[in-house]
Amino acid sequence: MNSKNLAAFFTPEALTALTLFTQKMLQINETLNLTRWVEDEQVLNFHLLDSAVSLPVLKSLIRGPSRWMDLGTGCGFPGAGLIAAFPQMEVTLLDSVAKKTKALNECLQTAGLQAQVHTGRAEEVGQDPQFREQFDGVVVRAVADFRVVLEYAIPLLKTGGTLVNWITEEQLSLVAQAQKALDLLKCKVIQTVDYSLPGMTQKRYLVVVQKSEKTSSTYPRATGIPSKHPL
Ligand code: SAH
Repeated sequence: MNSKNLAAFFTPEALTALTLFTQKMLQINETLNLTRWVEDEQVLNFHLLDSAVSLPVLKSLIRGPSRWMDLGTGCGFPGAGLIAAFPQMEVTLLDSVAKKTKALNECLQTAGLQAQVHTGRAEEVGQDPQFREQFDGVVVRAVADFRVVLEYAIPLLKTGGTLVNWITEEQLSLVAQAQKALDLLKCKVIQTVDYSLPGMTQKRYLVVVQKSEKTSSTYPRATGIPSKHPL
């Protein structure tokens, strides 16, 4: 993937907002442990660039007004990139840790960015009618292994919706082992996009999964079960 045109996704106002969001997040991080990536190069690579690489893929998936979730958003990435780049997109940032979601609300307010922030576990949110099968897309980075991510994310998608999962080269084999989970959750991998970040030799991947049918009410299973006993 060629990343040289990524800047075109951001208006000057969006770039300013993203900068303010990131600065506030790093400021809060001095007293609250939100992220271990705090050096300039790490912030640029892992928070900003690694979020922005998904934008061409997401743009190709967005049809009209759409609702997306960043599941297990942590300190707000990749979600903040989506919010800044696609102001028409309705974005929900989900994390199970209240101190993180509280910090995210402060960062969004400082940056003048609009998003819904929700505190909860994917296993519970996925069974809540307010969220279940309500999203056109879900993005997930660094939350769990692929099969677990599928069980967390697929129930939240409308039929036809897409999951975009960031994975590393070592995790690629887990995708090949996920056929049973894909079958049970009625979805399939439609695209795997590789990219690299400046100064890093290992490739990274975006795995795009499309949901083809409604999810059985069995999924997601109760809190802790998906990660303990992946499908
Ligand atoms: N996506 C961010 C954060 C990764 S750390 C990034 O790439 O930087 C993983 C985050 O997922 C943590 O903040 C953790 O609280 C959250 N998380 C883990 N399991 C979860 C679950 N079952 N439901 C909701 N959030 C979860």
